[in-house]
Formats: sequence, C-alpha cells, structure tokens
Amino acid sequence: MDKSDIFDQLSDEIHQCKQCDLFKTRTNPVVGEGSLDADLFFIGEAPGFNEDKRGRPFVGRAGAILDELLQSIDLKRSDIFIANILKCRPPNNRNPTKTEINLCTHFLERQLEIVNPKIIIPMGSFSSAYIFSKYDLPFSKISEVHGKLFTKNTLYSNLRIIPMYHPAVATYNPNKISVLLEDINKVKQYIISKSV
Ligand code: URA
Repeated sequence: MDKSDIFDQLSDEIHQCKQCDLFKTRTNPVVGEGSLDADLFFIGEAPGFNEDKRGRPFVGRAGAILDELLQSIDLKRSDIFIANILKCRPPNNRNPTKTEINLCTHFLERQLEIVNPKIIIPMGSFSSAYIFSKYDLPFSKISEVHGKLFTKNTLYSNLRIIPMYHPAVATYNPNKISVLLEDINKVKQYIISKSV
C-alpha cells in the first residue's frame, strides 16, 4: 500500500469512529488535508461550525486568517498538511476534553507518521501542549513558546517544532494579526536558513 492508500484507509476509520460522544453531534468529521509529502504539518484544535458542515479544516474565519498567514510566506494549502487534535466538532465550540483528546489523537499520530514532516506547527494551546508532551518537551504556556524554535532529535529524524498562536485569536482581537505574522515568519526564516 502506498501513502495515499494508507491515508484513505485512515480517513474511512475516522468517518466510522464512534469512540467518543462527538460523533452524535457532528455533521462530518474533519480528517485533515494537504500534501502527504509536506515538510510542514500544521495542527489546529478542533473543527468549528463551518468545518463541521463542510468536512474540511480551517474553512471559516480562522481559516481566512490562516490563508493570509500562509500567503505572507508564499505558501499555499497544497504545500502543507493541516489537521486538528480532534476530528469532530465539540458542541458550541467548547474546549476539547482530556478524554476526547486521549481517544482521538491516535488518528493524528498516524497522520504524522504518514506525512513524516520536518517541521510541526501546533497552533494554539491545546495542540502545542499535546505536541510538547508527545515529544517530552516542557510546556509552559502558549504565550511563552509561540514563535520559538524547538528541536527534537531522534535516532531517525531531527524534528523541529514552531508553535504559534491559534489564528482564531485575530478574529477576537485584530491587533493580534501582527503577532501571528511574526510567528509564521519564524517558519519562513527557518525554511530559508535550512533550505527545507
Ligand atoms: N479551528 C481549528 O482549530 N480547526 C479548524 O479546522 C477550524 C478552526
């Protein structure tokens, strides 16, 4: 089986998943999308209203901001991969629970294995806390780690992690767009310096 067959199989599993109660209230799960060969893997929190309706990640207001950020460093959605911590929308966009995160993240783990990115960009506190814990890095809070480069060297790879604020922050506070632009610029600087 090649990467895309494995991904399609995983996608079917996500569509059939009933491991937590979110399947009862979702319209569609949001698997994630982009290039399976991407060097950059962006991780959001969970689908919102528009994502749940359309079954695609970041297609609402936070998605428009994400597109602006990507465009600022000359990237397109098709250059990267984007997925969320949770595949189904929590009712009323409430925060993911620990149980939901524990039951769902094996899907994200497998997506990370398939894409095998060079840089992971967790967006917001939930995905940053999750990724830091997965790679045994100490996590304080998103306001301390955003826009900084973290390294995890393993036997097989030198993974880089660059957390950023969640794009939705700019929907509540338009002043935050400059911080988001600085955060994503760190990704660009790293790509340029290493020719990723
Ligand atoms: N916010 C997220 O974290 N993910 C989405 O897919 C949309 C909004």
